[in-house]
Amino acid sequence: MTDTLSQAPASTSARIVTEIPGPRSRELHERRVKTVSAGVAATFPIYAAHAHDAIIEDVDGNRFIDFTGGIGVMTVGHTNDAVVAAVADQASKVTHTLFAVAGYEPYIAVCELLAKHTPGNFAKKSVLVNSGAEAVENAVKIARKHTGRTEVAVLHHGYHGRTNLTSAMNYNMHPYGTGFGPLAGSVHHAPNSSPFHDGLSGAEAAERTITFLEKRVGATQIACLVVEPIQGEGGFIVPAEGYLQALVDWCHANGIVYVSDEVQSGMARTGAYFASEHFGIEPDLVTSAKGIGGGMPIAAVTGRAEIMDASHPGGLGGTFGGNPVSSAAVVAVFSEVEKRGLLNEAKRVEKTLKPALLDLQKKHPVIADVRGVGAMLAIEFMDPATGKPAPEAAKAVQTHALHAGVLILTAGTFGNVLRFLPPVVITDEQLHEAVTVMDDALSSL
Ligand SMILES: *Cc1c(COP(=O)(O)O)cnc(C)c1O
Repeated sequence: MTDTLSQAPASTSARIVTEIPGPRSRELHERRVKTVSAGVAATFPIYAAHAHDAIIEDVDGNRFIDFTGGIGVMTVGHTNDAVVAAVADQASKVTHTLFAVAGYEPYIAVCELLAKHTPGNFAKKSVLVNSGAEAVENAVKIARKHTGRTEVAVLHHGYHGRTNLTSAMNYNMHPYGTGFGPLAGSVHHAPNSSPFHDGLSGAEAAERTITFLEKRVGATQIACLVVEPIQGEGGFIVPAEGYLQALVDWCHANGIVYVSDEVQSGMARTGAYFASEHFGIEPDLVTSAKGIGGGMPIAAVTGRAEIMDASHPGGLGGTFGGNPVSSAAVVAVFSEVEKRGLLNEAKRVEKTLKPALLDLQKKHPVIADVRGVGAMLAIEFMDPATGKPAPEAAKAVQTHALHAGVLILTAGTFGNVLRFLPPVVITDEQLHEAVTVMDDALSSL
C-alpha cells in the first residue's frame, strides 16, 4: 500500500472506485455467511481495511465518510495517533493480569479521570467492565444492593444492551428480545419525554412518567431509574426542558438511585464530557462505554462513592474488566479531548451540520424534524401526506449515500430516523460533502 490512510490529508473525500460491494468485499461476505452467525447483523455490505479520522477505506479501495463512528465509538477519530501509541506502549508492558489478582496503574487512572469528568461535585468511585450492556447490568446490581429493593424502571424508546437483563430494559422487543425469553423480570417501562412527538412540557412529561411509576410499580419498590439523557437507538430524542431534573428530584425524594446511561451520549459526543451536563443534572450513577476507549473495548459505572461501595468485595468485576491496554486507550482519549479541544469540535460539528440539515428540511418536506446536540444529530422522516413514520425514505437515503461514499445509520423505534454521530474530528468539508450526497438522495426519492 503506497497510499495508506494515516498519511492521507484529514480532508480526504469520499472515493468510490468499484461497484458497491466491490469484489473483495463480496469474497469476504461469502466466507462470512459460512461461519459467522446469522444473528449478527450486516448493515453495510463492505469490509474495512483501514480507517483514519472520519474516513473508512474498504478492502476494494473505496473511501467512505463515516457518519456512524462505529456507533459513536470513534469520537476522537479512527486510529487516533495518541490512542494507537498508548495501545502499542501498554501492549509491550502488561496486557493482562486481572485487576483483582494484581492491580495496574492505568485502571486507577481511568477511575480518577471518570471521577473528575462525570457530572456531580461529590466523591465518586468506578468499576470497569467490558461493554455498555455489562455497565448497565452492574449499575442495576449496585443500585439493588444499595437500596435493598428489586424493581428497575426505564423509559419508552430506551436502549440498554443485548444481555438478558438489558434486553428486558429495551423498549423494542424486536430484534432484541424476540424468541430469547424468558427475559429478566422486575423491569418497568414508563412513558418518556419526546417534545416533537408528545408536545408536552418537561413538567407535564415528568408528571406522566412519575404517575405511571407510582401507580404501576410503587416508588418504595424501585431500586433505580435508568435513563439515557439523550436517547440513542430511540432516535436521538432530546427530552423537554426540566424533564430530567424533575425525575432526579423525584428519585431523591423517594430513595431511588438515578442512573444516567451515557454509553452513547457520553465522552465528548455532545460538546460536554457527559450529556447530563446540558440538562444541569447530577446523576447518582453514570454508565459509559462506547466513546471512552477510542475503539478499544471498555466500559464503566461511575457514581457516588457510598453507592458504589455497596457491594461486598468480589461482587463486582470479571476476568477482562478494565483491561490494561483498553485502560491506557481511555487515558489517551481523555488527554486528546483536552489537548485538541474536542468538546469544541463537537460544538463545531453541530454549528456546521445542523443549519445544513435545517436547509435540507426546508427543501424536502419528508424531513419532519431535525434535532440533537453537538455531534449527536438526527433527522426524522414522516410522510407529509399522512404524518406517519416514513422508514422507507430513511432507508433510501442510507442506500443512496452508501453508493456515493457516505455511511449513515438509521435509528428510531420505527426506523425512520437517520442519525449522525461522526468522529468529532470530521472536517467541515466532509460534513458539506455528505450533506450534498443526502440532498441528491432526497431529490431522487
Ligand atoms: C450501545 C448502548 C448500550 C450497550 O452497549 P454495548 O457495548 O453494545 O453492550 C447501552 N446503552 C446505550 C445507551 C447504548 O447506546
